[in-house]
Amino acid sequence: MQPYRGRFAPSPTGPLHMGSLVAAMASYLDARAHQGIWIVRMEDLDFDRNVLGADQAILASLTRCGMHSDEEVVWQSKRTHLYESALEKLDPHVFPCACSRKEIADSRVRAGLEDSQIYPGNCRHGIGDGKLARSFRLRVPDGETAVVPFIDRLLGPQQQNLSSEVGDFVLKRADGFWAYQLAVVVDDGAQEITDIVRGEDLLDSTARQLYLQSLLKLPTPRYLHVPVVVNEVGEKLSKQTGALAFDRGDNDLLNEALIPAATFLGLQLPSSIKNLDQFWQEATITWARTYLTK
Ligand SMILES: [Zn+2]
Repeated sequence: MQPYRGRFAPSPTGPLHMGSLVAAMASYLDARAHQGIWIVRMEDLDFDRNVLGADQAILASLTRCGMHSDEEVVWQSKRTHLYESALEKLDPHVFPCACSRKEIADSRVRAGLEDSQIYPGNCRHGIGDGKLARSFRLRVPDGETAVVPFIDRLLGPQQQNLSSEVGDFVLKRADGFWAYQLAVVVDDGAQEITDIVRGEDLLDSTARQLYLQSLLKLPTPRYLHVPVVVNEVGEKLSKQTGALAFDRGDNDLLNEALIPAATFLGLQLPSSIKNLDQFWQEATITWARTYLTK
């Protein structure tokens, strides 16, 4: 079997909050439990959302928690040549799209699909005269081949119909930024990631990523999606929903952040834990008992 390689891929849009700590911890523990490699990758392709210095703050918080990347941290913004060459490889499946958000919304209304989030296919067969390409989209298959099945280690068998549930999706955005779906697949491939452990909010992206992997002839990693932390009104914790940094520089991270995050992941740890080394030792053993059979 290939040696285990996992990753944690935060976006430097603000400091780590409890939600991102849970995702980091799950991927870290799974790598440790497999005696594998764990890599940190900064997903900093959305220049409008990046916050100056947030990447260094994230790395400092991970270090304070006792989590260290086994290989050099990579920044996606320094890897755009990889996404460019992947887009070229995907050329037969890619089409330029001239639609504005408003045009997409209007054609949904005309087709009676107001509630749909799916691209209505306007530019699938070419863009109209005098129109300019804004974004680049991947043509998803029709018919039975549109169904992408996969197994999640925790959630079991899953599937998504790319045609009826997703539609032709964006690889390069109208603002010129690379889309998450393309960049994540290219980097997981380039970094030879064997196991993806991340929040359940990304379950919905998995079929798109599997389809891109197949077109780019990249191996398919294993997937494990863990529950995401939500606030009192059921929203996923994020900068937008006002999540606070768990690391205030001088607080007790073991009791205020790490043990609560482990508890959220369903790990029942002995109450005798006094320090970070002990925490990671016990948490790794408990993780293996709880998740490795899955
Ligand atoms: Zn279009």
